[in-house]
Amino acid sequence: MKNATRLLTILFLLPATISFAQGKDSLMVAAIIKEANENSQLKNNAQELMDGIGPRLVGTPKMQQAHDWAVAKYTSWGITARNEKWGEWRGWERGVSHIDMVQPWVKTLEGTQLAWSPSTGGKTITAELVIIPDVADSMAFVQWLPGVKGKFVMISMMQPTGRPDYNWTEFGTKESVDKMKKERTEQIDAWRKRLSKTGLSNKNLALALEKAGAAGIVGSNWSAGFGVNKIFGASTTKIPTIDIALEDYGLLYRLLQSGKNPKISVRTDSKELGMVPTFNTIAEIKGTGKPTEYVMLSAHFDSWDGGTGATDNGTGTLVMMEAMRILKKVYPNPKRTILVGHWGSEEQGLNGSRAFVEDHPEIAKNMQALFNQDNGTGRVVNIGGAGFVHSYEYMGRWLARVPSGYKQELETRFPGTPSGGGSDNASFVAAGVPAFGLGSNSWLYGSYTWHTNRDTYDKIVFDDVKNNAILTAILVYMACEDPATTSREKIVLPANRQTGEQGKWPEQRSPTRKGGVD
Ligand SMILES: [Zn+2]
Repeated sequence: MKNATRLLTILFLLPATISFAQGKDSLMVAAIIKEANENSQLKNNAQELMDGIGPRLVGTPKMQQAHDWAVAKYTSWGITARNEKWGEWRGWERGVSHIDMVQPWVKTLEGTQLAWSPSTGGKTITAELVIIPDVADSMAFVQWLPGVKGKFVMISMMQPTGRPDYNWTEFGTKESVDKMKKERTEQIDAWRKRLSKTGLSNKNLALALEKAGAAGIVGSNWSAGFGVNKIFGASTTKIPTIDIALEDYGLLYRLLQSGKNPKISVRTDSKELGMVPTFNTIAEIKGTGKPTEYVMLSAHFDSWDGGTGATDNGTGTLVMMEAMRILKKVYPNPKRTILVGHWGSEEQGLNGSRAFVEDHPEIAKNMQALFNQDNGTGRVVNIGGAGFVHSYEYMGRWLARVPSGYKQELETRFPGTPSGGGSDNASFVAAGVPAFGLGSNSWLYGSYTWHTNRDTYDKIVFDDVKNNAILTAILVYMACEDPATTSREKIVLPANRQTGEQGKWPEQRSPTRKGGVD
């Protein structure tokens, strides 16, 4: 009743040329913004998910806990939600880890075991270190190999500087910046050659060292910022693989080179849990006019586990959950059905979303639009048409209803090109679904938070996340109400410049349904 009264008041004040539909839209947009500003759940949800539960690596108990949390949260908002099983994964649980230098002096090192790294079997292993040598060829490497027995093997290059390039550019002389970059490029090149001369891929190198009796693998995957490393998964099956921060890795490396014979102690208490089921969390607000047509919100739910997955993809998750909460409150009877997908195992190859597309062809076929967000905490500044010829018409129409304050720096590219990967919208685009990525501005995502040990709550920029929740809720509302069904007509892709071969639309691919076992 209240809404209707307000609607009539607004309509009365609007010029007669503005249609009833536009007046209704303005009212809804205002209600979305009001709810987002006055009753935001972003901080609370971020704290519960990132701090309370933590990282969400596929196959871990935390991932399961997060799925259950999301279902409970939706249920508390009166939204129907379920966890939908799509496969299984090697189950693993991170435990306590200690990494210390015990010789020539004592220092607790900043490091962590990689995801799925074996434990040290309840023991602390103390051993010397050895650096992958610069051998002549793979034969020489095989001859060297037995020497690793009982030692930790350092497999990463020592970075010449722990200062990011922007810091050098700001304070260094041009000569010293150029010199540093030249020397570093030469070192990177030489290290690549050193590894290739072993004749082994990174994975097979780790396995060869393990087989030769190494105590463990020690690497340092610097992410080109102050104090930040990328933390991925281990290849070893019996011995631990650890990552050590640039500063401490350099310390060990230089001590070793200068003949000081450093020793480290490592204890990792992770657990293997056998195969465990993997899920997507799906929530739904049923449509009242066209219930078998869908508008979907999308963000992967899993993360790597060096940090807490705050910006990859905690922030995308927060945006979609908040948009759902707002829509349920101000737009509880949508014309089309609103779905949200919180995907499992995006990081290992878009597995959750590929499974959903494969398992629900009738939903994919009848999907009006999908909006995915997965590149950090920043305001949405890029939207493309994903290669759909008429995307400008409908996306343009929907975006026109977004107040200018929520799209200030937005750049659009229509008809754009279909995404072949990168995030979950690609799984839908491959099936011909008008699926769009909402591209955020950087906040140095690539170096500082993407897959790093610093991807934590404190990196979230809540004003930007709120902006994105509002933008998403408005786009979803507009896509739901649109009298027209979106066109799926595809652009003709340009020919490859080198080969002259005709460009092809990305193909739909099956997910890995049994993961972490190869
Ligand atoms: Zn991501």
